[in-house]
Amino acid sequence: MATKGNISVHTENIFPIIKKFLYSDHEIFLRELVSNAVDATQKLKTLSSTGEAKGEIGELKITVKVDKEAKTLHIIDRGIGMTEEEVGKYINQVAFSSAEEFLEKYKDKGAQVIGHFGLGFYSAFMVAHKVELITKSYKEGAAAVRWTCDGSTSFEISDAEKEERGTEIILHLAEDSMEFNDDFKIKSILEKYCKFLPIEIEFEEKILNNPSPLWTKAPADCTKEDYENFYKELYPFSETPLFWIHLNVDYPFKLTGILYFPKIKNEFEPTRNKIQLYSNQVFVTDSVQDIVPEFLMLLHGVIDSPDIPLNVSRSYLQSDANVKKINSHISKKVADKLEEIFKQDRVEFNSKWESIGTFVKYGMISDEKFYDRSSKFCLLQSKGNDYYTIQEYKEKVGSTQTDKDGKVVFLYSNDLIAHDSFVHAVEKRGYEVLKMDGVLDNHFISNVEHKFEGVTWKRVDSDSVDKLIDKDLKNESVLSEADQTSIKELFEKNFAGAGQFRFSTEALAPDDSFLTLIKPEWERRMKEMQKMQGMGMDIFGNMPDSFNAVINSNHPLSLKISKMEDGSNKEELVKQAFDLARLSQNILHGEELTQFIQRNTKSLIS
Ligand code: ADP
Repeated sequence: MATKGNISVHTENIFPIIKKFLYSDHEIFLRELVSNAVDATQKLKTLSSTGEAKGEIGELKITVKVDKEAKTLHIIDRGIGMTEEEVGKYINQVAFSSAEEFLEKYKDKGAQVIGHFGLGFYSAFMVAHKVELITKSYKEGAAAVRWTCDGSTSFEISDAEKEERGTEIILHLAEDSMEFNDDFKIKSILEKYCKFLPIEIEFEEKILNNPSPLWTKAPADCTKEDYENFYKELYPFSETPLFWIHLNVDYPFKLTGILYFPKIKNEFEPTRNKIQLYSNQVFVTDSVQDIVPEFLMLLHGVIDSPDIPLNVSRSYLQSDANVKKINSHISKKVADKLEEIFKQDRVEFNSKWESIGTFVKYGMISDEKFYDRSSKFCLLQSKGNDYYTIQEYKEKVGSTQTDKDGKVVFLYSNDLIAHDSFVHAVEKRGYEVLKMDGVLDNHFISNVEHKFEGVTWKRVDSDSVDKLIDKDLKNESVLSEADQTSIKELFEKNFAGAGQFRFSTEALAPDDSFLTLIKPEWERRMKEMQKMQGMGMDIFGNMPDSFNAVINSNHPLSLKISKMEDGSNKEELVKQAFDLARLSQNILHGEELTQFIQRNTKSLIS
């Protein structure tokens, strides 16, 4: 006997809506149908464990098949199936979600039911002009039923022949969806969405998924090898990760997952979109920017939360309170894990700093709470490649590098080769130099300077050696005031023309440099900031580098020059000294460099 009827939906023409607007991505129909099959199979398992489903449950795998000739796609499960009445209720009354009803009934029995599917089943009409459903309930004596619908709002129910318990969905593919009449296409969709579904999925006689992925296991049961192997499963071509965090949260939201810290070679390698989001083992998306804190986007791995609906939109994620909680939870877990390694194995932590330093610094800059948690273990690297926390370093250099205001001055270089002459100068005073040559280090320094009390940061080339750490000590000058002025004027006459150099004299030690060209710290930072903000047109950004030129009035050369007669080769000497200073600081370029070399070559010949 065949029944005909109308599907009760609120809108007359729901199918065109489904087709056009519900999902922008047509391929997800398969995710929806396979998820329903998984759902029905898990329900059967639950019913069998409570004794409500009698007898052997047999093999439970789900089979997907393409019949190229017939242009049909088949999804076959051995789940609970449906009686005729249930088909009417669950399939015909679209708005009725039986998953909710089921959950309500079995929520205390640990049933794992995938919910949130909404119009899941009807998404079949995105690709099919006709859908057939042949089903037989697990209930004793249930008869098999066939339901067909051609995409209008009318359906037909009739008796069917079906030996096995469960449901077969047959999609008669629409003309404009023939791309799905293809094994390769179907396989690749299954591999994307169904890779970790909890029930075996068979396609072309092979099981495509891993039904119990590592993140679903208890962390205590997982070994180092397990984590490394799972990483390989996710990213077959990546190097072994540095370490990982196994997330396992029950309250106030459910969240499991594993986040891996990859080895980073180039700090800004495009490794984004490496975290995959799942909902009860169903792949949802790999653009997780709203769930994972921005600074952790370089991590790899999976996050699984049933609290996140399958059909996520960006605006949903941005406004959802759970998502915000997930975000700060992940950030906290990452800080906790790093602190744990820091405390347990400092040598290991130091050795991995080069890779994790980028995350940590990025996190400290962008997230106040993360700063508070990680300023304890954030490391600084000395010129000699030793690692110190900020506090340790403050204690280490405090006795020698405290200035007259009681601030400890951290001297750093972003380019030890270019700054070599400055590094030598400060080391002669017994000071130490930090290596701060990462992309984020400028940002990091100004951030830490605000927050970490009692410390200021100065780049080694930002002042003359005695002023870098101003201890208010005045050296006696060997030259008289008048002699100092006349040396200064001699330099100004020859080089101050472009306004690029501001000359002054200072009584340094006789063996300090004769002439030091300095870019003041604040001026350089202003310029760097403007460059970062892309304000290239600004006058500051476009100005040529300007320098404070400090003449050491206690240097033997100062004494020599002040004793020389006017008109002798005094000016030549000043020019040479100036060239040498620029050469030692990598700022003698282009034509000036060529002329310098020519002059010196000539003097070698004569
Ligand atoms: P949802 O899954 O959100 O409830 P669907 O439209 O995807 O919405 O499915 C509606 C209902 O149809 C399901 O809740 C379930 O009761 C029933 N159903 C769908 N597919 C199957 C299946 N393969 N086996 C048994 N029941 C199914």
